[in-house]
Amino acid sequence: MPINQIRIAGIKDGEHRQVFEIKDKFFEAYKESHVKSGRFTVETLFSLKGIDKRLTINIEGDIKDLLCDYCAKKIICPISITLNFILKESNSEIDSIDEIIYIMPNQYQLNLDQLIFEMINLSIPSRISHKNDEQSDGECDVEMLNLLHQYATKNNKDTDHRWEVLKKIK
Ligand SMILES: [Zn+2]
Repeated sequence: MPINQIRIAGIKDGEHRQVFEIKDKFFEAYKESHVKSGRFTVETLFSLKGIDKRLTINIEGDIKDLLCDYCAKKIICPISITLNFILKESNSEIDSIDEIIYIMPNQYQLNLDQLIFEMINLSIPSRISHKNDEQSDGECDVEMLNLLHQYATKNNKDTDHRWEVLKKIK
């Protein structure tokens, strides 16, 4: 699995830009991931000024194979997310929380995989529908909706006793 990492020491003061491409293979390492497929461009801007270290990560791309909450068909969901981080030195190994990334005093590289994974999964909309899908003009699959509706109606008829009453009236 390719590791997406940036240099954070041993480089000149100033801004350092790097771009990474993320594809389906990236998510294979994360069994718990809701995102299994997609294409993303990760742009990092690392700014170094003496001991001041800041990182901006921007991710743009499409999450593929999410299922629409309404018609259960696969949709492609475009995402765009940017987060700013401050890098702080610490001698003890602490998991990076929120927008502070803890690094070791002698650390010269930063692995971005976990951050990229979390940012993409954070971007999944709470309601997944064809309204998120640019390719389908926001329309659900009508045939599928009809099928689901018929199924729901049939099930209701089976359990609804008022339906029996109506049949008798006929
Ligand atoms: Zn739909």
